[in-house]
Amino acid sequence: RETLVETIKETIKTKSVELLHMQFVDIEGTLKHVTVTAEQIGQVVDGKVMFDGSSITGFTPINQSDLYLDPDLTTFAVLPWTEQEGYSEARFLCSVKKPDGSDFDGDPRNVLKKTVARAKDKGYSISVGPELEFFLFETDENNQPTLRTQDVGGYFEPSPKDFGEKVRLEIYKALKMMGFTIEASHHEVAIGQHEINFKYADALGSADAATTYKWVVKTVAQQFGYHATFMPKPLAGENGSGMHVNISLFDDEKQENSFYDESDELGLSAQAYQFIAGLMANVKDFVAVTNPLVNSYKRLVPGYEAPCYIAWSASNRSALIRIPASRGAGTRVEIRCPDPSANPYFAFAVIAAAGLDGIESNLEVTPAVNADIFHMSKEELDTRGIENLPTSLESALDRFETGEIGRKTLGEHAFGEYVALKRSEWDDFRTAVTGWEVAAYQSKF
Ligand code: GLN
Ligand code: MG
Ligand code: MG
Ligand code: MG
Repeated sequence: RETLVETIKETIKTKSVELLHMQFVDIEGTLKHVTVTAEQIGQVVDGKVMFDGSSITGFTPINQSDLYLDPDLTTFAVLPWTEQEGYSEARFLCSVKKPDGSDFDGDPRNVLKKTVARAKDKGYSISVGPELEFFLFETDENNQPTLRTQDVGGYFEPSPKDFGEKVRLEIYKALKMMGFTIEASHHEVAIGQHEINFKYADALGSADAATTYKWVVKTVAQQFGYHATFMPKPLAGENGSGMHVNISLFDDEKQENSFYDESDELGLSAQAYQFIAGLMANVKDFVAVTNPLVNSYKRLVPGYEAPCYIAWSASNRSALIRIPASRGAGTRVEIRCPDPSANPYFAFAVIAAAGLDGIESNLEVTPAVNADIFHMSKEELDTRGIENLPTSLESALDRFETGEIGRKTLGEHAFGEYVALKRSEWDDFRTAVTGWEVAAYQSKF
């Protein structure tokens, strides 16, 4: 730790860092920060920076609002877009502590740390590799986002059709300078849609990376006059944006990927099958976390490469759970329902917890479904016992509230705040009169 602090102080000097942004997320995963001067680095690393938690969504009641920011020193990064001659800014991602020094339960980072500790107790480290898709839209003369894009690119298409290519290149450069290992970058299926992939890491590191990625994508896009959105389904009739989550467990004792077993037909271990079974048994109870918006459920419909049925397959992209082809150290499970509007800390926590439940209770997995589920009749789905994911935020919340996984993984505080927030969001939507209704009913009735 001391050497890390020294390296940080050295960077502050050599890069002329003047301001330090102390970052954390609220219960929606929205990035927040308070900025202090670099002279205060001593207090910063000692966790002495205090803030008022009462105005942060889902944090504390007003009578106990003093909270402290405990920076994770490994997240220190100079912000590439602030660098000029003799000036720059840097940031830390922080965990939130109470005045008595204990962890604040409402902090999503602390929630994920608890699930990481639960896995550790069982002898596992959790590896996560998320894939976040996003759209780039033009802004209007008041810098407000529109739904317009001149980009006519499709899957994997290069310029001149891809107007976002330059933006992606700058995002890549910024992320790389902040310590990311970027593996791939491409135009996605929909017009104006993109994806940049970074290397997998431990669950907390990946949730931090997903949070940073969303911020950097938005920040760089803005410099080009574009608005980047992680809203799951901005355009009806086009593919939406997903956040596929690739996950595996690493056996700490054997020092190997515990999902791999070369003697199995598919190269998967008993733990891998139980993990998949745990995901399938719990998914209805946790989609309110992985798919948190009213709009999320407009993505989970047939025909757009997003899942809507609860099934798994070694290859099938219409299934909820897919097993990507790589084996050995790269053996993993890909769950395809999450979208990038989810709080990554909560999302990775509930997904890992569901899989661990499967292992702990030796759950048996249902047969793989290798046929195209989107084209199955209702009868065929019924005979195979393939169920639908919840089709609205309301039904997802009903399951979330009655299920065990959410309460147990988020903890009472975060669980209660999350349910209250999401119920009121649903109520707002339920009582709104939408453009669709006016168009469909006003002249007809
Ligand atoms: N956009 C699709 C989704 O909603 C995924 C497409 C892909 O990555 N092949 O999940
Ligand atoms: Mg991908
Ligand atoms: Mg993709
Ligand atoms: Mg994928």
